[in-house]
This record gives sequence, C-alpha cells and structure tokens, in this order.
Amino acid sequence: MARMTAPVRVAVVGSGPAGLYAAEALVKQAGGEVRADVFDRLPTPYGLVRYGVAPDHPSIKSIARYLQKVLEHPAVRFFGGVELGRDLTREQLLDCYDAVIYSTGAMVDRQLGVPGEDLPGSVAATDFVNWYCGHPDAADHTFDLSAEEVAVIGVGNVAVDVVRVLAKTPEDLRHTDVPEHVLEALGRSRVRRIHMVGRRGPAQAKFTTKELRELGALDNASVHVRPGDMELDPASAALAESDRHVRGNVKVMADWTAGEVAGKPRRIDVRFWRAPVEILGTDRVEGLKLEHTRLDETGRVTGTGEYETLPVGLVLRSVGYQSVPLAGVPFDERAHVVPNDGGRVLGPDGTPLPREYVAGWIKRGPTGVVGTNKSDAAETVRNLLADLAARPPGVGRPEHTVEEVLEAGCLPVVTYADWLNLDAAEIALARSLSRGERVKLARWDAMRQACRPER
Ligand SMILES: Cc1cc2nc3c(=O)[nH]c(=O)nc-3n(C[C@H](O)[C@H](O)[C@H](O)COP(=O)(O)OP(=O)(O)OC[C@H]3O[C@@H](n4cnc5c(N)ncnc54)[C@H](O)[C@@H]3O)c2cc1C
Repeated sequence: MARMTAPVRVAVVGSGPAGLYAAEALVKQAGGEVRADVFDRLPTPYGLVRYGVAPDHPSIKSIARYLQKVLEHPAVRFFGGVELGRDLTREQLLDCYDAVIYSTGAMVDRQLGVPGEDLPGSVAATDFVNWYCGHPDAADHTFDLSAEEVAVIGVGNVAVDVVRVLAKTPEDLRHTDVPEHVLEALGRSRVRRIHMVGRRGPAQAKFTTKELRELGALDNASVHVRPGDMELDPASAALAESDRHVRGNVKVMADWTAGEVAGKPRRIDVRFWRAPVEILGTDRVEGLKLEHTRLDETGRVTGTGEYETLPVGLVLRSVGYQSVPLAGVPFDERAHVVPNDGGRVLGPDGTPLPREYVAGWIKRGPTGVVGTNKSDAAETVRNLLADLAARPPGVGRPEHTVEEVLEAGCLPVVTYADWLNLDAAEIALARSLSRGERVKLARWDAMRQACRPER
C-alpha cells in the first residue's frame, strides 16, 4: 500500500475468530503501516472459541493459542469490557480510527414461532451453551433438569453438542473447563431420554459425520433412529449418492436403527420428519406437539396432518443463530447480516460507506467453521487497505484517540495484561480442584476481581 505519514489506525469490534483473523491480516498485509485495536464487550477474547465450541472438544478450543499470538503482536492492542453501542458509539470510533471492522458475530437464537415458546422450560440452545461454557451473561441461569425426558429441536452440530453434554456424566466433563456450578447441576440431572427433533430427513440434516460418530460412541447413552425415519425419498437417495458428506452421515445413522442397546443409562432418540407445532403446558413445559412431515414435489417440507406428543419437561431450541443490529450501522433485517460487498459496508443506496467494514458471522451469516473466518477476514482487509491506499495522503486522518474517549467516560478497560491475570486464575483454579487445564470463572464479579487481583 502507499506510504502514509503515520501508521493507519483500525478498530476491530469483536475479538472472536473473525476479529482476530482480521487483526492478523491487517498486520500481515500492511506490514508496519498499521495499528489494530481490538474491542470486546467481554473481558475475555476469542468469542465462540471460548463460549461456543463444546468443552469436550479441546483440539478446536486450542485454536485460542493461535489467536493469542495475534493479540501479542506489538501492533495489536486488546480493549476488553468495551461494548459498541454502550461504551462507544459508531461515530466515536470513526472519529478515532481510519477504518472500523465490525466482527460482532451472531449469538442470538432464531425463534420457532410456535405457541408455548415462551413457557418456562422452553429455552434457546444458546442460553444452555452459554451456561455450560461459563459465559458471564448466563452464570445465574438455571435449567430444570428434573424431567426424565427432554427435547432438543434442531439437527445441526450445535444440537449435537447440546445432546452430548446432556447425555454425558459430570465425571466425563470433569477434565474440561466447565464451571464448577455447571458440573454440580449436571450431576443432579434426572434426564434419561433425549429426543433430537428435525423437520427434515437424515439426508438434509446439517451434522458433520465426525460429530455423529462421537455421539454414537458415548459410553453413557445409546442412540436410536426409527427405521422408517431413515427411508430416503428419491431426491434424498440421489443426494446421499452424490454427496460424500451426506453419504457418511446416512451410513452412521443407519447403524442406529438396530433397536434396544442394554446397559446404557441414557437414551438418545433422533426423530426426523417431525415439525414442532406447539410447546404444551400451563405454568411450564409439559410436552412437545409434533406434526409429521414429508417433502412435497418442489422439495419443500410439508405437514402430513399426523401428530404426536412427546412428554418432555424441557425444550432446547437450536434452529439457527442470527446477528443483532449495531446502533447506527446498516442492517439487513431479513438476512440478519450487515449488507456488504466483500466486507465493505453498504449504505441504504447500495454503495459502500467509507471506512466501515465487516468480517465473520455478521458479514456472511452463521455458517462455516472457525477457519472459514480466516479467508473471510482476509478479503475484508484487502478491500479496506485498497480503499485507504486510494485516499489522498493525510485526508480524513483521525483527530482523536480512543483513550481520550474512554478516559472521558471513566471506563475501566480490561487490558491484555488483565486478561492474562484472569487466564492464570482459571488455570490455577483447575489445578487446585485437580481438574483439567482450566476451569472457567463465570461470574462477572469473579472475572473482574481476577483481572485486577491487587485491587
Ligand atoms: C455453539 C457453537 C459451537 C461451535 N462449535 C464449533 C466447532 O466445534 N468447530 C468450529 O470450527 N466452529 C464451531 N462453531 C462456529 C465458530 O464458533 C464460528 O465460526 C466463529 O466463532 C464465528 O466467529 P465471529 O468472530 O464472527 O463471531 P464470534 O466468535 O461470536 O465473536 C464475536 C465477538 O464479538 C463480541 N461482541 C459482540 N457484540 C459486541 C459489541 N456490541 N461490542 C463489542 N464486542 C461485541 C462478542 O463478545 C464476541 O467475542 C460453533 C459455533 C457455535 C455457536
């Protein structure tokens, strides 16, 4: 890029994979010409790598070690505990930086839109995931695990994670980072049967084969599918023929049609071709009414008019995530993303807004694995640097620093050194409890205290 008088300053909002891959791309693509300040509303970096990826998937969680190196680059600074829209406005950021990248993810559950959805005992899978991952927003949530039967609605990997955590014993999770209060609550669980419900069939389910195999290999639970649910219509059979991934899934699940497996205390029933139509109950969830479904001639799911009711006391809804709008930033209310062209934020007239960019789930929606965000962020950064390089020298340079704004608001920012204190406290806690590598601190006050132990 063209040489500038001083390094360009870029704000990255959100320190999940997309934000940190964007900071890495900035440093790599612009050499010594850039400074990246990474903000997060939480005192902790890594987004869903810390608060989404399942605790019993340590190899994926270890991506945090790679992302840590980005935060430790001399051109990158971490500003934890700073929320865009609460502590800083979009306008303030644009006053302080040459450009801003929004990478705030998508952690709100989509609604089912059926009666009874708001009953106690009907909860978003995100809340449950946040809780077992030790997210401070969910530290005081409680989940009634006293029912023997529960339903998880959704047939994707997040639903599988939730089912697996419900099926495992606290002993299975003891060497993971789940907070102590979560282990205790799971230890009191009376759940015996978990129904995983999908509107479509096995060929359309969004699982990955690896996650399915893991479910089938659980010591504590057997997995079942009714043979009828595994019957493939011609279109699904063709898909299973042509798509290696679908073929793998169907093969794993075909082994689950065998019937009873004795000796395992919990049971998982995968129920395809069932659409939730009502969550039943007066004061709390007492059942889930399902309508049987099939694909019509156009390939769309349609109800058959045949119903059944599952006697469940807890319903966990995992039917997709969506982003939330950021104050003042354009938002597509239908697609639930910030409208953009290769990461350039588009204004209402469809043309790029100067100096505003997006990366990650808020850019493209909640799809892909952690690594998908790397190429996605690199594309955004290429366009950002090309736009800045095309700017006449000195024009539009920021007039303020973010420190001035944050000091004026008396905001106690969590620095990278503060986060390392919290990190060390979690590692020490695990050691003192003879658990695994880390045990998460989940409460805001405990996290703040661990960040600044001397105060
Ligand atoms: C339950 C679950 C399990 C998953 N498991 C896997 C897995 O096993 N393997 C895999 O490859 N992928 C997995 N994924 C997908 C992966 O986590 C995502 O691809 C990735 O995290 C998306 O990155 P992101 O940076 O866009 O969003 P996020 O990771 O959500 O990061 C967004 C960050 O922005 C911050 N933020 C939000 N709003 C603001 C604001 N207003 N101001 C400041 N900061 C803000 C948040 O605190 C967060 O840290 C999983 C996802 C989920 C939901």
